[in-house]
Amino acid sequence: RKQIKMEPETNPHQRIGFIGAGNMAFGIAKGIITGGNVLPANIKVSAPSNRNFGRFQELGISVTNSNVELVCGSDIVFVAVKPHLVRNVLNEISVLITDRHIIVSVAAGITLETLEELLPENASIIRLMPNLPCIVQEGALLFSRGSCAKPSDGELLRSLLHHCGLVEEGPEAWIDIHTGLSGSGVAFVYLFSEALAEGAIKMGMPSSLAHTIASQTVLGAGRLLRDSGKHPAQLRSEVCTPGGTTIYGLHTLEQGGVRAATMSAVESATERARRLG
Ligand code: NAP
Repeated sequence: RKQIKMEPETNPHQRIGFIGAGNMAFGIAKGIITGGNVLPANIKVSAPSNRNFGRFQELGISVTNSNVELVCGSDIVFVAVKPHLVRNVLNEISVLITDRHIIVSVAAGITLETLEELLPENASIIRLMPNLPCIVQEGALLFSRGSCAKPSDGELLRSLLHHCGLVEEGPEAWIDIHTGLSGSGVAFVYLFSEALAEGAIKMGMPSSLAHTIASQTVLGAGRLLRDSGKHPAQLRSEVCTPGGTTIYGLHTLEQGGVRAATMSAVESATERARRLG
């Protein structure tokens, strides 16, 4: 029997709060609104200054300078401040957390154990690791539930984030690996795109055209890889004509150790994320 994939359902009146008005909060909020299953009027963001509020207000999101007001008026609270500020913020809001709240922290390196220490017993806590392409609804997000977060809380989060990109659940030990693979991985891909363009510039192509073509190449290769479901080695072999240009270029990359360097980059970024915890 053919299975029909249904869009997950959420309550459009669910009230969502973001503590912190930075890039990550904006990317997630934009994805949630794009999904159309939460009204912008039911989303609020808090930060000490007004300087980052403009783009949220353009989406119809309300703003406040009070974390207390935000938590009192929200059911799901995203904690999206820099990691060194999480302790202060949670100390401020802890007494306000009730059974109806789900707290979702995106702070890198702050473990579920630390979050559970700082929040009331029985609080539903989820640790989420997003990445920057959430802003264009192409993020890669991995979450892990704390001991009191129910499977249904995870499903609710998954349905809310549906339009932010790929959303997966896993054990907390994978969060740091995901940080190395995907959080930092975005920067590794940018470095590769820059190097591709510089190769073309070296060969005589104008810089702006080289960078435009390099970014389209990264985008096209990524979409084909994801949408085809094929292993990257298979796609790679499909563009390698025997004795052709690509196999010559791949040989040069292998001589430069690009594969080992990339594996080591994910390893060192993962280890760094572990040490932040
Ligand atoms: P960001 O752009 O620097 O934004 C931080 C926000 O927190 C600012 O709006 C700031 O207010 C606000 N803030 C500071 N103190 C606050 C307080 N006491 N109460 C409420 N808000 C406060 O940071 P970001 O890049 O979005 O990162 C946020 C979190 O996401 C971090 O924990 C990071 O580890 C995590 N994360 C980021 C990425 C990424 O790619 N950026 C990826 C994964 C996870 P003002 O507007 O007044 O300055």
